[in-house]
Amino acid sequence: MAKRDYYEILGISKSASASEIKKAYRKMAIKYHPDKNPDDAGAEAKFKEAAEAYEVLSDENKKARYDQYGHAAFEGGQGGFGGGGMNMEDIFSQFGDIFGGAFGGGFGGFGGGGQRQARVKGSNMRIRVKLTLEEIAKGIEKKVKVRRKVQADGVTYKTCTTCNGSGQVTRVTNTILGRMQTATTCNTCGGAGQSLDKKPSGSDANGLIVKEETVSIQIPAGVTEGVQLKVAGKGNEAPGKNSIPGDLLVLIEEVQHDTLKREGTNIHYDLYINFSDAVLGTTKEVKTVTGKVKIKIDAGTQSGKILRLKGKGLPSIERYGNGDFLIHVNVWTPQELTKEQKQFFEKMSNDGNFAPSPNKSDKSFFEKVKDMFS
Ligand SMILES: [Zn+2]
Repeated sequence: MAKRDYYEILGISKSASASEIKKAYRKMAIKYHPDKNPDDAGAEAKFKEAAEAYEVLSDENKKARYDQYGHAAFEGGQGGFGGGGMNMEDIFSQFGDIFGGAFGGGFGGFGGGGQRQARVKGSNMRIRVKLTLEEIAKGIEKKVKVRRKVQADGVTYKTCTTCNGSGQVTRVTNTILGRMQTATTCNTCGGAGQSLDKKPSGSDANGLIVKEETVSIQIPAGVTEGVQLKVAGKGNEAPGKNSIPGDLLVLIEEVQHDTLKREGTNIHYDLYINFSDAVLGTTKEVKTVTGKVKIKIDAGTQSGKILRLKGKGLPSIERYGNGDFLIHVNVWTPQELTKEQKQFFEKMSNDGNFAPSPNKSDKSFFEKVKDMFS
């Protein structure tokens, strides 16, 4: 069958302007639109024919070739048709915007002109990670094994023919109030826009298999109990070509420390020194979260004194600096004494040097606590 002239198809003259060509095509497309002519093969053929004509005449280069050589310009497949014409999907994806005004922006039964493609996201997975204070102080990379659903090797998906990949079916109905458009989830594909094409053995109904994978999680310094981190894309995969994998959500748990107590970014430590060291002074090694620190205990140190190591606490996750490491000095009073020791202390109990005489520099416990939070 001889191909009809493109100008004739659109009912325009060879001198028609670009906007006249567009207007003419829009008129034809609306007239022969499949929504208006359900199950009418003749209308569908006219609809496709008009689209093919417009595809050429709306393109400056193709129009020039057509004007010079006619249909021969596109024979041999160069022009993109090769006599086969355009399929519906191509028409809606290329020219859908032209019908926009006439069909309320959507496109009944064709999923918004092929523009909209369903993008299904896989489900998130949750794990807990336990961290010590030392790990929290520095930040750490944790490798965890997760069992996640992934698309099986060799699986293929095809575009759902019911919704053309949009995942939605739009129905246009005429009511006394005018045109009504309703979108519902496609029943055939369940909204995924795609269906399983080739199912590898061992995979589930969606072409997914469970795979154990080691995931690396970068944990920043300063996290707190209950913080949730997200490793994007390491949750379960979803079926389909355009699907996005879910995320791996990591819940932080803090392991109780044997000797240190966390209070925000500050860390508290109870140091016990013996009676003689408190009297004579000494040096002690203290383990902080980042390493050992030597501290000096002055001669005559009172029990309850707080030594503050500035910046030796935990970093804040908001990065406004480190907290402090607070050493609470406790003087251990001996409970078992030899006869000699007992005699010594009996002698000292009336000695003036042993009499308590707190002065202004020896703050009370409550004043020290008040200072700590100021
Ligand atoms: Zn579908």
